[in-house]
Amino acid sequence: MTTTVTVFGSCNMDLVAYVGTAPGRGETVLGREFTTVPGGKGANQALAAAKAGAAVHMIGAVGRDEFGEQIRASLAGSGVDTSALRAVDGRSGTAHITVDDDGGNSIIVVPSANATVDGLAPGDEELIAASGSLLLQLEIPFEGVAAAAAAGRRNGVRVVLTPAPAAELPDDVLSNVDLLVPNEHEAEALVGEHDPKRALAALLERVPEVVITLGGRGSLYGSRGGEVVEMPSFPVRAVDTTAAGDTFAGVLSVALGEGAGIREALRRASAAAALSVQRNGASSSMPTRQEIADFLA
Ligand code: ADP
Repeated sequence: MTTTVTVFGSCNMDLVAYVGTAPGRGETVLGREFTTVPGGKGANQALAAAKAGAAVHMIGAVGRDEFGEQIRASLAGSGVDTSALRAVDGRSGTAHITVDDDGGNSIIVVPSANATVDGLAPGDEELIAASGSLLLQLEIPFEGVAAAAAAGRRNGVRVVLTPAPAAELPDDVLSNVDLLVPNEHEAEALVGEHDPKRALAALLERVPEVVITLGGRGSLYGSRGGEVVEMPSFPVRAVDTTAAGDTFAGVLSVALGEGAGIREALRRASAAAALSVQRNGASSSMPTRQEIADFLA
């Protein structure tokens, strides 16, 4: 069964510098390599979901520049419907990423066109209503996230929020979220608990289902009144963890939309993320449905 996913969020061009050790403040270092690759948490989740086999609509905005065209072509090339991706005056969003030799990264996001995605455009609600899942992140204005989450809830769609970059979230947004997928730093920022199990318990007071991703240590799932599920990560050699969380959230949503149980969905999401961290880049690193199946076989 093909599941339909709508992503309401950001699209960026990632400008990636590979370096031995990332520079500290005031320091200049020589990098090894530079690449540009389409990214942004919204577009990354859209690509991950499309490659995992879902029918995907991307709602958002790019600038009328070269990056905007490349971002749209990259999404369309993986089968994502970009008819609701607006082209606006000015620049596309950019992310300035440093990847070090241990596979760690640091990122500056400049929103540009993404800053215009502050509400629903005509037709957006129909796309959301026709979807099994709505995927949200926090790289667009908060008003946009809130409007989309409310539309998801009104139409009985599963609303999945990746609360990144970390920010305070008022209860009127969280009350429309079904599944929250923070990494451990975002979870700590939301509830002030460093310990993942305690953070999980605190988050479950605000949303019905939560997955906290723990990088190489795997992930932790909880639901109100349900058991906690611990999913270890697959042991692989990580070279670039840039879009691990987006791959995870995209594939998790596809699996749940297809009716998989939570353990199976976590297993597929972890496998997809493990495949992605072994490759450089964000969009370029996401595995196909077949690659995920082969990895788990
Ligand atoms: P984010 O990219 O949002 O910071 P995480 O780093 O927590 O998210 O990674 C998300 C998921 O990706 C993890 O739960 C895990 O399944 C997988 N993952 C991340 N890093 C590794 C790694 N080094 N080895 C294997 N899997 C990993």
